[in-house]
Amino acid sequence: MNQRRKESLDELERRRHARIRRKKGREKKKKKRALYIGSAILFLTAVLAGVLWLMGLLFDRNYIYLKEIQMPEWIEEDFLQINPYSRPGAEMNKINEIVIHYVANPGTTAKQNMNYFNNLKDQTGIKKISASSHFIIGLEGEILQAIPVYEVAYSTSKEKNTNTVSIECCHPDETGKFNDETYDSLVKLTAWLCNNLGLTEKDVIRHYDATGKDCPRYFVSHEDEWKQFLKDVKTVRKQGD
Ligand SMILES: [Zn+2]
Repeated sequence: MNQRRKESLDELERRRHARIRRKKGREKKKKKRALYIGSAILFLTAVLAGVLWLMGLLFDRNYIYLKEIQMPEWIEEDFLQINPYSRPGAEMNKINEIVIHYVANPGTTAKQNMNYFNNLKDQTGIKKISASSHFIIGLEGEILQAIPVYEVAYSTSKEKNTNTVSIECCHPDETGKFNDETYDSLVKLTAWLCNNLGLTEKDVIRHYDATGKDCPRYFVSHEDEWKQFLKDVKTVRKQGD
């Protein structure tokens, strides 16, 4: 190989190496840029999520801190002991509806129904019963509270129990019609709950509306009386607003 030819081959080899170096350099830069862009997107997403979260906290005026609700003195607190059959102790974050029930045991008092719920903790039978309600309204219009409003009660259905508050009402006979004392307390309590849970009478339902159960019987068989009840709740709710 003559000297000249060797030099030209060296030159070619040098250029080839230079090309490879340049190519590697470009790829490195590309990778770096992709990393920068990726990090920037990640950072901005995190910032945006943080800002949205803060805005949600600041501007969600409908958010109710259930644990901070102060119950009025006309409600008698008589909490059940925590147990698997009537007060599981599970907490709720939000209440979407108020569910109305009748106790389906004519002539019983609020306290008797409260004792029934409480005694479920001691049941020994093979088939265990789960039942309870946040409130029980008696025949004299007394209102007992069995479970705090921020806890689950076993009253309506598996789905509804986790985001509703329930009211059981006593009644004198099989028709399930509430006497005036019970009715007036039911209107008063439902209106108060609406105002304090950020709800209206549109969010008040019968057990029947959730599951088709014949409960509260008189309001299932008398649709017009149910509508009148919701109107009465609206009237009292507006007074208390
Ligand atoms: Zn019911």
